[in-house]
Amino acid sequence: MTEHTTRVDVGIVGGGPAGLMTALLLKRRGISAAVIETRTKDTIHHTQRAGILEAATVDMLVDAEVGSRVLTAGHEHEGTVLSFDGEAHRIDFQALVGRSVWLYPQNEVFFDLANAWEREGGEIHWAVTDTEVHGVETASPRISFTDAHAAQRSIEADLIIGTDGSRSMCRKLIPEAVRTDHFISYPFAWFGILCEAPPTAPELIYANSELGFALISQRNETVQRMYFQCDPDTDVQSWSEDAIFDHIQAVLGTEGGVQLKRGPIIEKTVLPFRSYVCDPLSHGRLVLAGDAGHTVPPTGAKGLNLAFADVRALVPRVEEFITELRENRTADPAKGSEGPESKEPGAAVETPEALRRYSRTALDRVWKAQNFSYWATNLLHRQPEENPFTHQRRRGEFEAITGSVYGQAYFADSYTGWSD
Ligand SMILES: Cc1cc2nc3c(=O)[nH]c(=O)nc-3n(C[C@H](O)[C@H](O)[C@H](O)COP(=O)(O)OP(=O)(O)OC[C@H]3O[C@@H](n4cnc5c(N)ncnc54)[C@H](O)[C@@H]3O)c2cc1C
Repeated sequence: MTEHTTRVDVGIVGGGPAGLMTALLLKRRGISAAVIETRTKDTIHHTQRAGILEAATVDMLVDAEVGSRVLTAGHEHEGTVLSFDGEAHRIDFQALVGRSVWLYPQNEVFFDLANAWEREGGEIHWAVTDTEVHGVETASPRISFTDAHAAQRSIEADLIIGTDGSRSMCRKLIPEAVRTDHFISYPFAWFGILCEAPPTAPELIYANSELGFALISQRNETVQRMYFQCDPDTDVQSWSEDAIFDHIQAVLGTEGGVQLKRGPIIEKTVLPFRSYVCDPLSHGRLVLAGDAGHTVPPTGAKGLNLAFADVRALVPRVEEFITELRENRTADPAKGSEGPESKEPGAAVETPEALRRYSRTALDRVWKAQNFSYWATNLLHRQPEENPFTHQRRRGEFEAITGSVYGQAYFADSYTGWSD
């Protein structure tokens, strides 16, 4: 069977937000990219994931001129509410750190980016199978796959970017001898629902009580997103609609305060919690970005935002690397796709310094976000070994945050996202 081959500067595995934003920003800098994605565009567009965007993420969408509707269809949140045993405290982001976050669902972020990439004629293959990545330790890496029409295809490039999500196959191409996998799991999960109801509150409410954690979030005027803490093995069918709303209301407090707006539940999912970091994020002619390189529990709303922060750090370093390659080729065309360290075709190459720097810069932020996500998760969730002492200790920690402008500022600064 004939294999169709494309030749680009950068081959990208994974057409989620990290992969598409990278492809678009590279194109803006004159660097060609091709993207492959295992799912269909429609499936990703209809999968609920993140909802909170840091200001820097919004700026990227606006600056990239992808026609994102974030500013027209999204909602600016100037603060959030932390509730403990029914007592609510608002953290005023704008007053504390002069930044907001935006509620704009990840599936819409994805849709805006995918439409922009297709509109600009970018190469993308949806619903591929049999993805394999070859030769990442050489100067001529390649992706092979079967496309949606069962044709065998190949993308040859100078660099492969793995943005293939938390179950990344790309990261396994970094040999165990040079890769450290930092991983922890948590003894609880989130039970997430999507329901047809008006918003319960104008901003997110993160709540803790002796029953555990609950989060009131929004999607739009008629559909809402809510979560509560559950056992990772929970069967979603074992919870009726009434039981779900009664439980969330009990975490918020039943007397006075916030009253849940209820409506038909149209989706129920259980979301396990993990913290993971791959170190390094670059090896030979492969780099990782987004969930492929790290996963955080969702409490701090950091996952999607970290993926975009990776892209901000990565794109200038890829440009530096590709520019250097081009200069070398112009100076000595015989070097073909080899870098400054030119060797025999197929020989092992060093990881370019620009890509090593990307890994160091990105990991600095990743570990800050890991710390915040871990800390917020432990502050807001009930531990299996909870007893009256640990609950009261948590109350003390909660008051240390909400009762002081310094505590509030720590939360606001971390949640809205540190400057690069
Ligand atoms: C329920 C939930 C709530 C969340 N809430 C938040 C939040 O409020 N704020 C926040 O910042 N983050 C949140 N996150 C995390 C956020 O969704 C992720 O961090 C984000 O999706 C990362 O983007 P990505 O592009 O790196 O990975 P992904 O979005 O996972 O994209 C990776 C893509 O690669 C594709 N792929 C995988 N393997 C292959 C292969 N072999 N070949 C080709 N393609 C492949 C996948 O199909 C996928 O589309 C949440 C996550 C979940 C699940």
